[in-house]
Amino acid sequence: MKFFLRPLLFAAASLVAAATLRADYRTTERSVTQLAEGVHVIRHPDAPDGFPQGNTTVVIGNESVLVVDSCYLPSAAREDIAQIRQWTGKPVRYLVNTHWHYDHQLGNGAYADEFPGLAIIAHAETRDQIRGMNPGWFERYPETFARIQKTLDTGIRSNGQPLTAELRPRLEQALAGRKSVQEEFIARPGRVPNVTLDREMTIDLGGRIVRVLHLGRGNTAGDVVVHLPVEGIVAAGDLIDTPVPYIGSGYLRDQADTLQAMARLEPKWFVPGHGDVLSAEKGQAHVQLTRDYLLDVTAKMKAAVHKLGNNPADFEKVKAEVLKTVDFDAWRQKFVGDNKDDQAYFDGFPKEGALTVSFAETWPQ
Ligand SMILES: [Zn+2]
Repeated sequence: MKFFLRPLLFAAASLVAAATLRADYRTTERSVTQLAEGVHVIRHPDAPDGFPQGNTTVVIGNESVLVVDSCYLPSAAREDIAQIRQWTGKPVRYLVNTHWHYDHQLGNGAYADEFPGLAIIAHAETRDQIRGMNPGWFERYPETFARIQKTLDTGIRSNGQPLTAELRPRLEQALAGRKSVQEEFIARPGRVPNVTLDREMTIDLGGRIVRVLHLGRGNTAGDVVVHLPVEGIVAAGDLIDTPVPYIGSGYLRDQADTLQAMARLEPKWFVPGHGDVLSAEKGQAHVQLTRDYLLDVTAKMKAAVHKLGNNPADFEKVKAEVLKTVDFDAWRQKFVGDNKDDQAYFDGFPKEGALTVSFAETWPQ
């Protein structure tokens, strides 16, 4: 959770800079990509509160429509529904949540309102997490911004560091976007999945087969991917994100295996949870890069813990060791090249997140 909030802060921190800098980890406008006849991927601009919104994939069959992920803002989900109605008169009967994170499922209510009898499908673990986590999110939402307000009022960040002149306008902008988002959530507080799977489900949309697969734990305990075997398309949720992986939660060592299982589906198109769709070649390379990163960090973390112990109180000591043994500068370069904005994002999110999560994974060992 802690690191899941990082994109919020980084995206929020970058809204003002977006006018002059072009960075790839952000999404500034809505766009649609058609991957096959009746298969579309919608990207959404980051929300006014700075939160990123997950990609939505729309799969149209002869009888019904399946949607993968309802994104974050109900208003964005409603825009997607209007777009779907332009594409087809068939009803959305199935909505899959790839995982519980808010930016992939808080639009569920918009679909449930528009399509009575909708099956909202998720892994059983994801259903439990959405049911358990959503109420707390709505309760905590004002607190997150109270913290930002306090930072602005005092000029001191929550980590004790002074608020820089560069960061101040970005936080002010994030705060300004808060009200409209909060009002949306009051009007539509989300919807819990009502159909669950443990491993695999096959759905016939009429002339079009869709498989929902839990290939193992990864970004969360209940990740699923949506596979169109005939068209060769995989919607991966946040198991992959481009250009920077969202690594700040989950099961990193398991994720490496889950990514391998996904790569073996050999799709023509990979749809990441965030960012541009990837062709087979680029997708396989990105999956491999993400996998190699996870394997490197988890192996070096394991070695550091063998040397120094896994007491949670020793995190800083263990982290210092891993910072010496993992070449994070080289990984950063491989993921984002020379883009300074994305480099900062890498350091704040998947580097810090991988250190924290890979250490936490060693606690029960
Ligand atoms: Zn996401």
